[in-house]
Amino acid sequence: MAELFYDDDADLSIIQGRKVAVLGYGSQGHAHALSLRDSGVDVRVGLPEGSKSRVKAEEQGLRVVTAAEASAEADVIMILVPDPIQSKVYEESVKDNLKDGDAIFFGHGFNIRFDFIKPSANIDVCMVAPKGPGHLVRRQYEEGRGVPCIVAVEQDATGGAFALALSYAKGIGGTRAGVIKTTFTEETETDLFGEQAVLCGGATSLVKAGFETLVEAGYQPEIAYFECLHELKLIVDLMYEGGLEKMRWSISETAEWGDYVSGPRVVNDGTKAEMKKILGEIQDGTFATNWMNEYNAGLPKYNEYKKADGDHLLETTGRKLRKLMSWVDDEA
Ligand code: NDP
Ligand code: MG
Ligand code: MG
Repeated sequence: MAELFYDDDADLSIIQGRKVAVLGYGSQGHAHALSLRDSGVDVRVGLPEGSKSRVKAEEQGLRVVTAAEASAEADVIMILVPDPIQSKVYEESVKDNLKDGDAIFFGHGFNIRFDFIKPSANIDVCMVAPKGPGHLVRRQYEEGRGVPCIVAVEQDATGGAFALALSYAKGIGGTRAGVIKTTFTEETETDLFGEQAVLCGGATSLVKAGFETLVEAGYQPEIAYFECLHELKLIVDLMYEGGLEKMRWSISETAEWGDYVSGPRVVNDGTKAEMKKILGEIQDGTFATNWMNEYNAGLPKYNEYKKADGDHLLETTGRKLRKLMSWVDDEA
């Protein structure tokens, strides 16, 4: 079972004694920078000149400099720019500004796990990854609570890397909720697998296949949309609150019986065999290499897939139906 750490296990004075740079001011970056500041930590934000996020960070009272300047000033550098550009930002702005005993931090292990960033041996390499979107992380902190975080140390040059990571997690409210110790390998591989096989890829393909089955059988797309996409939220909310058990307690006995007898026919041994292949391609680096090649080629296939799904009858039907739902916010 996982090892858990709380406020009493973490010493906030460690991070308060360091100079922190937060590179990036998006979903995670803004939450980390603001909450660390409110925890009494010396924080600066690193962003390119003229970037959109600069205005926001400055309006919220933070000092903003370039990523290189922030890295030069600081001795703890949290890299919260998008994963595909982290290695570029590291090479251009961080690497030459690292001194013995400095620390680089990540919110996701992708670039370390797959060696796109190869830090030298004299620095600490840590991860503090909240298990929630940045806006929830910030809101919970402001309300005196926190979002659980996972914490990992890839390289402990100083002997104090784990205590430093726990202290950072306390600074953003993570230890108020609880922090779980993991490794860069476990976090990265499970994160990629979860989003591909279950949360994003698995769920979207399941919804599309169900919708197409009904429409091809002659049912109206609007009705198929409600049954295969819209109602999913209700089911997922119940699972989130109380697992499969609460969801099954809430649905009808007929729905529950259908769940038991038909679910395993949809997600069957063949599906699970494919999941194992997907996991294998994550573990052996095939996925990461292919994705970085696609990204560096200017995203040709990515844009093709995006366009095809955007034009799908499921999506055109949904755009129309959501206009009938005054309580649904359809902004991206
Ligand atoms: P976002 O896309 O929300 O934000 C990225 C930020 O980086 C923006 O402020 C952007 O500025 C800035 N930026 C872009 N280029 C540069 C550059 N060259 N130098 C400095 N800053 C730059 O990222 P996320 O917060 O979603 O992700 C950050 C990290 O956190 C990733 O590793 C991700 O995997 C991880 N993570 C994300 C979670 C989430 O909830 N989103 C959850 C857990 C981990 P501008 O807007 O001006 O372009
Ligand atoms: Mg992910
Ligand atoms: Mg129904």
